Amino acid sequence: MIGDNAKGALVDLRSDTVTRPSAGMRRAMIEAPLGDDVFGDDPTVNRLQAHAAKLLGFPHALLFPSGTQSNLAALMSHCGRGEEVIVGQEAHTYRYEAGGGAVLGSIQPQPLANRPDGTLDLAEIEAAIKPDDPHFARTRLLALENTIGGKAIPRGYLDEALKLAKRRNLATHLDGARIFNAAAALGVSARELCRGFDSVSVCLSKGLGAPAGTLLLGNDAFIARARRARKILGGAMRQAGVIAAAGLYALEHNVARLAEDHDNAQRLAHGLREAGFEVQGPHTNMVFVAAPAGFADHMVNNEVLVLAGARTRLVTHLDVDAAGIERALAAARAFHRRG
Ligand SMILES: *Cc1c(COP(=O)(O)O)cnc(C)c1O
Repeated sequence: MIGDNAKGALVDLRSDTVTRPSAGMRRAMIEAPLGDDVFGDDPTVNRLQAHAAKLLGFPHALLFPSGTQSNLAALMSHCGRGEEVIVGQEAHTYRYEAGGGAVLGSIQPQPLANRPDGTLDLAEIEAAIKPDDPHFARTRLLALENTIGGKAIPRGYLDEALKLAKRRNLATHLDGARIFNAAAALGVSARELCRGFDSVSVCLSKGLGAPAGTLLLGNDAFIARARRARKILGGAMRQAGVIAAAGLYALEHNVARLAEDHDNAQRLAHGLREAGFEVQGPHTNMVFVAAPAGFADHMVNNEVLVLAGARTRLVTHLDVDAAGIERALAAARAFHRRG
């Protein structure tokens, strides 16, 4: 049924990407005026890009099918062949994007360990910048992520990191797939957390609830390069207004409510601790649980979907309400009582 978000059936805590478009979002998609975005004349895409650029404080925004592609296009727009990006070991764009920067961009990653709070040590960043010498790749870019592993990186750290990048002539990219979660957790605007970066990538398909779509933001020259990279990567779409309409709806309706997801994550973490589980977090909408053998299977058998793994990440989102959290906790408590 259109708009049936399967509430009351499965409680799906695998990721905030599992949300289905709501009835209102689907209506917006159906009714969106459309054109051919490769010719630049899809009015809904143009409206989304203009809205996002204004909201986040950049001259331009460009719609991509996915966050992986927008991050890769950003790397390719900042770095040429044989150039280097400094990036966290835990960063999505280093660890979870199949090495795309190296495979398709001929860009060398220089990963650094993320500290427990998700940040990179500034002295380590500085030490990793290569001298201008033919032995070395040319260090071009510093890429950060916010939130990372659910952890919100505060403005003070960003200021320090951006200052260092500027002093050392590095471009800066922020993977802000969940930047609105970071903003909600820190009590600042997303725009404030994007300020000073040369480019930012923002997912519409995570906690914001759209079925697809990521925005890449930057200035004129950067976006011109990113548009070319998007074409190379096969990401230029035609009547993309269908997707953009969902993104507009998401930005208008689903940002303020992210605090509910964070509340639900608090409730989940608290309940799991009370039930005797070893818990880390919550960090924004994520809770990490040391899962004993058989935990994931037990939860799935009780209609609570979680990913298997020794350290399981549970993610709250707009298709899990407080009642869903109670059902997840009831299933988790039953794990200890099972015969
Ligand atoms: C999900 C995610 C991406 C990639 O988004 P896809 O749309 O799944 O390709 C990039 N960065 C971060 C931090 C993410 O969580």
